[in-house]
Amino acid sequence: MPAEGSSAQLIERDKKSVSPTIYRYTDIAFARGSGSFLYDFEDKRYFDFVAGIATMNVGHNHPRVVKAIAEQAGELIHAAAHVGYMKPYVDIMEKLISLAPATLNQGKGILLNSGSEAVETAIKLARAVSGRSMVLAFMDSFHGRSMGALASTASNSSYRRHLAPLLSGVEHVPFPNCYRCPFGHTDHDRQDCCGTWRNFIQMTLDKLVHPEDLAAIIVEPIIGEGGYIVPPDDFLQTLRDFCDRTGAFLIADEVQTGMGRTGTWYAVEHWNVTPDIIALGKAIGGGLPLGATLARSDLMDAWWPAAHGSTFGGNPIACRAGLESIAIIEEEKLLDNATQIGDHIQSRFKTAQKNLPLIGDVRGMGLMIGVELVDKQGQPITSDQIKHIIKKLGIAGVVMTKCGQSTLRIAPALSITREIADEACEIILKVLKDF
Ligand SMILES: *Cc1c(COP(=O)(O)O)cnc(C)c1O
Repeated sequence: MPAEGSSAQLIERDKKSVSPTIYRYTDIAFARGSGSFLYDFEDKRYFDFVAGIATMNVGHNHPRVVKAIAEQAGELIHAAAHVGYMKPYVDIMEKLISLAPATLNQGKGILLNSGSEAVETAIKLARAVSGRSMVLAFMDSFHGRSMGALASTASNSSYRRHLAPLLSGVEHVPFPNCYRCPFGHTDHDRQDCCGTWRNFIQMTLDKLVHPEDLAAIIVEPIIGEGGYIVPPDDFLQTLRDFCDRTGAFLIADEVQTGMGRTGTWYAVEHWNVTPDIIALGKAIGGGLPLGATLARSDLMDAWWPAAHGSTFGGNPIACRAGLESIAIIEEEKLLDNATQIGDHIQSRFKTAQKNLPLIGDVRGMGLMIGVELVDKQGQPITSDQIKHIIKKLGIAGVVMTKCGQSTLRIAPALSITREIADEACEIILKVLKDF
């Protein structure tokens, strides 16, 4: 019998009461966190290279976030936005909008509880306001697991297994992945992409989805769960052009890429493209559940009262934690830190790649970095193999997950220091060498 209060005991109790459908990458039980570190119940320290799946952007238990949560809990825990007005709701909405690019800078938004809900809201808004029904989405994309969001998700068919039919009217086209080109081309890179993906969208509009029926194109500016894939530089602008030509809305799912993860507040800023609608989640609540959908004012103003809502959306404690995290990112200059440390981590893995054929590709922006692991033929290693590597990393003291089929996902707190990042990289590279 595992000892009372031990990690092993918690895991044993969990197995008896918690649904096994929750997949665990590691066998670690987390007792507490601090900055870029997590600790188990035996007080073993772990480097956290996933930050609660890109949610803990200012690190674990930042004293200012803890204080903001406690203060707000003492004033007002919840009153519900449908009943009246709450200051933290307005405060964070003003802030999110003030950080948003170009025309969305005068936009409006609605607060929700999760990324999936923000995506659902974006699709509902696009359909309601356009009066059109069809949505174009991309293979490899992840937009969430609720039934509407799941209809746009196409990063892994196991998420859809035995669940069809989902929301109808969503069509998928290939996402340009220049390392592993969906059209089989091997002699191109991101700057010199074959561009076949563009023809595919045009073909879809010519043969399958009439442009007058297209409500929206939904896209992750950088693919997250599907493999941390950075598209070619003309990708987003081309989607913007397709939308302008057809009258469809461009929805950027920035649930994972947003809040400074890639070194800018919103990833679309890297390409100077302004979407009509942005879905946010993950890090915006400073570690508490919060989602948001922002849109051009004219779209939000055209959505009639009571068309949408949420009991807990914009909970004051989550808003305060989120606001405080934004202030910390600004004051501690964490966007610059994300860019610098991110470049440093990428260059470390690129250097190691020269003597380590297991590393097939290193890519990403800011602190959203993917390291794709391949076999001797350059094919992705199996899902079992990468899961095995991740378990070994956990035992060696680094908490990580994968994305795509065989890509290590590096998404630490934006506040991580170079020294801590280096120590964790050493451990990761050692585990990869020993594989
Ligand atoms: C995580 C994620 C979602 C879903 O967010 P939940 O909070 O898990 O519902 C949607 N889109 C993207 C890009 C994500 O990374």
